[in-house]
Amino acid sequence: MTELYAQIIVDVPTMQTNQPYTYAIPASLREAVQVGMRVVVPFGGRTVLGFVVALVPNAPVDVAVKPLAELLDLAPVLNDEALALSEFLAAQTFAFRISILQTMLPNALKANYEKIIRAVDVEPAIAERLFFNLPERVFVPSEWSEDDLALLAKLRRQGKVDVQIAVHDKAKIKTQRAYEMAVDIADATVSKRAVKQQQLLAFVKVHAGETWTEADLHAILEVSDATLKQAVAKQWLIEHDVEKLRRPKTDVEVAKVHTLNDEQQRALAAISGRFDQFQPFLLKGITGSGKTEVYLQAAQQVIAAGRSVLFLVPEIALTPQMVNRVTARFGDQVAVLHSGLSDGERYDEWRRIERGDAKIVVGARSAVFAPLADIGLIIVDEEHETTYKQSDNPRYHARDVALWRGEFHQAPVILGSATPSLESRARAQKGVYQLLELTQRAGEAQLPVVDVIDLRHEMANGPETSFSTALREKIQQRLERDEQSVLMLNRRGFSSFVMCRDCGFVPRDPNCNLAMTLHMDSHSLKCHYCGHEEAIPSVCANCGSREIRYYGTGTEKVEAELKELFPEARVLRLDQDTTRKKGSMATKLADFGAKKYDILLGTQMIAKGLDFPDVTLVGVLNADTALGLPDFHASERTFQLLTQVAGRAGRATKQGEVVIQTFNPDHYAIQLAQKQDYDDFYLQEMQMRKFGQYAPFFYTVQIQASHADENQAAVQLAKAAAWLRKHLPADVVVLGPSAKPIAKMRNRYYYQLILKYKDATTVDKWLAILQDNAQKAAKNGLQLSIDREPVNFM
Ligand code: ADP
Ligand code: ZN
Repeated sequence: MTELYAQIIVDVPTMQTNQPYTYAIPASLREAVQVGMRVVVPFGGRTVLGFVVALVPNAPVDVAVKPLAELLDLAPVLNDEALALSEFLAAQTFAFRISILQTMLPNALKANYEKIIRAVDVEPAIAERLFFNLPERVFVPSEWSEDDLALLAKLRRQGKVDVQIAVHDKAKIKTQRAYEMAVDIADATVSKRAVKQQQLLAFVKVHAGETWTEADLHAILEVSDATLKQAVAKQWLIEHDVEKLRRPKTDVEVAKVHTLNDEQQRALAAISGRFDQFQPFLLKGITGSGKTEVYLQAAQQVIAAGRSVLFLVPEIALTPQMVNRVTARFGDQVAVLHSGLSDGERYDEWRRIERGDAKIVVGARSAVFAPLADIGLIIVDEEHETTYKQSDNPRYHARDVALWRGEFHQAPVILGSATPSLESRARAQKGVYQLLELTQRAGEAQLPVVDVIDLRHEMANGPETSFSTALREKIQQRLERDEQSVLMLNRRGFSSFVMCRDCGFVPRDPNCNLAMTLHMDSHSLKCHYCGHEEAIPSVCANCGSREIRYYGTGTEKVEAELKELFPEARVLRLDQDTTRKKGSMATKLADFGAKKYDILLGTQMIAKGLDFPDVTLVGVLNADTALGLPDFHASERTFQLLTQVAGRAGRATKQGEVVIQTFNPDHYAIQLAQKQDYDDFYLQEMQMRKFGQYAPFFYTVQIQASHADENQAAVQLAKAAAWLRKHLPADVVVLGPSAKPIAKMRNRYYYQLILKYKDATTVDKWLAILQDNAQKAAKNGLQLSIDREPVNFM
């Protein structure tokens, strides 16, 4: 049966729907159109981009069907897995399928980039008629007849032509000349006087069947172009153009493969016992217990079996050491996807993955969509990290996508962490995930000793220092012993303010009477509750003094303090300002590793993944700024952060020490972080969550409405709340609407509703209806979003 119609998901921002539209396929395109290709279709008087999601023999009877206008691809850009995943995610994240499809593709495939079609292996007649005997042409569908398009599609399927996107941001697809060494020249000879030719012939015989680039041959044999030309004429060499990929640079260091200890071995055995089937594992291992080594050895087995590996990390730029370890182990088989890639570089990596040249993909959140085929293992390192959740549309969680893909490919999924999310730990409790534990540090290392310093006492010594006496002494010791210190300044939460030194006056915001937060970037004071903003005063509003001082905590200020306290110390500061340049984080960390610095001072970006043997002291300058956040995860985040950063100390043979400075020394998150007792924290926090009816006992959904008119935002959301209360089962808790903690941003007002419920069966259906209805309201300026298991309540 011929399929005459295509079902197409169209890209119309204001009229989104998860229902595909049906279009007729013109006779000439029937051969060429495949599921997963991009098309241009007429829609309400204009033409829009669409994705073919199905081919069907019949159109719906009662609608007039238009023909699709243009076929943009000669090969599908989305495979069956991607299409199925998009369907799952649309329902899961209350997003429209089109935005998910767009998210899955590299930018180069979203915009209308120029395409190049290349003749790889075509008959002379076709080469002449379609390519004017050129190796490649720009692909503009309107320049070709529909018959020719159908022919090209067929050739593309046979691998005889190839289509590439020409991304003009950096460079076009680069090609370089290469030569394939003939295999049937065992008895070819050459005159003894032709030295160079003799040498080349010998080389070709050794490397029969291999392909070498011209550049390499020049470098190794010092052959001239003329010699190569002669060799081609004699058919020793077959000339090719090979694609030179824009590979991002990674500095590869030698990677030592460790012999696993007993715990590591048990974990690896459990995982490799489940290759070829879907099984999530929660690998819970204290910091430095060698989780990474387990990942790498499991990956090695999967690669050796010819399958591929997806390896997710929270943030590539912040974990250069992890990337280095993977590339050192797997070399050219690794594709690294990170946000610093240009569109062209990203597209190149995407193609390497799709072609199967890259067998292991390392990347952050969006890398979870990497077009790997035949996945044999998925790793989610630091699975508790909130960066895995996308905070804007589509609000997917990479961990959930990883689990979905693991099931699709029937592969194990390792979720690794020293401080698993409560949700994952609870699932392991129930047996949904298999729990694997590493309780000892690998090799010789011991867990560090942790001191908690009560800042309420220290402040009596004067409010202006960031360093307690104990911390100062310990830093001094490190300097004397030529060891290194890592100092973390927690910038999460409200921490910086200004105060008059003469009268103690702190400027407060006129609406909420809260101390305003200092923002050096915009040179202003802001209230994080209502959004009120004003310039930093130079004169005290209370007493007229000019002695206005900044308090709280900028890394710059702490750096200045350090220089005063330890003039001889070499301090490396890492924060958003000093690491803006691509790759600078990696370079600076490498310098720290080479002991060009004594002290590393940074924000929470340094809490993860650093592994330096000479770091024996970790100081947390302000442990509790996150405790006061209006978010039920506040304790969990604090515990995780403190445990992670403490884990940077004493990772090799030298004993490590940790100093935590806090105003809340009695808080259980701080006390249990001091003991590095995850299990006890888990038990206590589960009690709190149960009592408060939060995850993992209840599902949480946040519905957010924003409008330029504050009244509209509140009124519209109140209507939605009433509607939900009417339709949802009585046991669903609907909280709000209330203004968000940051209620005004970029001239829009934000209100939120929180739903909590135990039984998800009917809730999703009503939320999907709410989402559809919201599009009508969007016309008068209301924006509504639905966020399942939100990670940001600000
Ligand atoms: P994690 O990922 O759990 O924090 P890592 O894999 O980074 O731990 O290991 C911590 C340190 O211990 C690293 O320096 C690593 O090279 C080393 N290591 C890992 N496994 C072993 C082992 N079996 N024997 C000796 N050293 C090991
Ligand atoms: Zn305010």
